[in-house]
Amino acid sequence: MPLIIDCKGYTYYDGKLIPNKPSRYTAEEKLFILDNHPFFTGICPQCGHKFEQDNLPVHFDCPNPECGWIDDSV
Ligand SMILES: [Zn+2]
Repeated sequence: MPLIIDCKGYTYYDGKLIPNKPSRYTAEEKLFILDNHPFFTGICPQCGHKFEQDNLPVHFDCPNPECGWIDDSV
């Protein structure tokens, strides 16, 4: 049996380090999204608009016309 270790986007397979299939976001970008996406923060990452927590939209497009931030993560 080869040794397989899955670690941080790489798979250590039988002595070789192989990058996993490229995903749409890097690990850093995923963290950025987790830290900044209004789905998690309730706040527009661009202008600070607060989304209504009671009535969260499916797409968090910012309603502030001067901002225009669009949720492109879905
Ligand atoms: Zn905004």
